[in-house]
Amino acid sequence: MSSAVSDSLHTASLTDTGSVRAVNQDACQEFGRSDGWQLLVVADGMGGHAGGERASHLALEAIGQVFAAGSKDAEALLREAYEAANAHILAEAASDPQLDGMGTTAVSLLIHPGGAVTANVGDSRAYRLRAQRIEALTEDHSWVQTEVRKGRLSPEEANTHPYRNRLVRCLGYDPGVMVDVRAVNLEPGDTFLLCSDGLWGELAESEIVRILEAEDLQQAVRTLVERADQNGGRDNITAVVARLGESSVSESRRAGEGRPENAIL
Ligand code: CA
Repeated sequence: MSSAVSDSLHTASLTDTGSVRAVNQDACQEFGRSDGWQLLVVADGMGGHAGGERASHLALEAIGQVFAAGSKDAEALLREAYEAANAHILAEAASDPQLDGMGTTAVSLLIHPGGAVTANVGDSRAYRLRAQRIEALTEDHSWVQTEVRKGRLSPEEANTHPYRNRLVRCLGYDPGVMVDVRAVNLEPGDTFLLCSDGLWGELAESEIVRILEAEDLQQAVRTLVERADQNGGRDNITAVVARLGESSVSESRRAGEGRPENAIL
């Protein structure tokens, strides 16, 4: 019974350097546990001298280790995992001057028999596609999004602003990093996309919806990355897609019934 969700969860992942950058500082991974819990993570590293690559991979490693320890408290698990990742990156940066200043975003989706939880720091994103409607489940921790929320920039201006890549939160910067953790409900057929800004910055949401609806997941991640590349490919591009089948969701919904979606900051 506990494996029902993972049995019906189909996933696909792809990361690509893009057309302009010399190295890929993005990283992504799918983690599974024998109790059926599954965790998907996308990290987008930054920092010179291989720091960006190191930071995104350190984050995956630390998050995966905390996940594997087996906690059944999804929200606490993700907070602990992000705090561990943050501490690892800070410690390694402090021990190697060439890695000083490295950091990474991390967006995660944890799916378990009782529902799902997202965690986010930075400007990678989690989306949910349900009934042809796409919804961002995460809020960017970027300077431009802060300005949009204050009404000082329009979303269109944010997309082209010279400071659009400037983050106000990332892993590896502040020892007391704040992590956004959000419980989300599940419905049969829900499709989730985790991606770095090299994907969402190059594709309109309407195009993302069209691709996710038209193609099987393996082909969808290839098409998403190809289209982002064709539209400029100015940054590393990463897509992780997960789709819930029909068989397990009734169990998830029963287990999650009555639990409101909430945002904890
Ligand atoms: Ca990026």
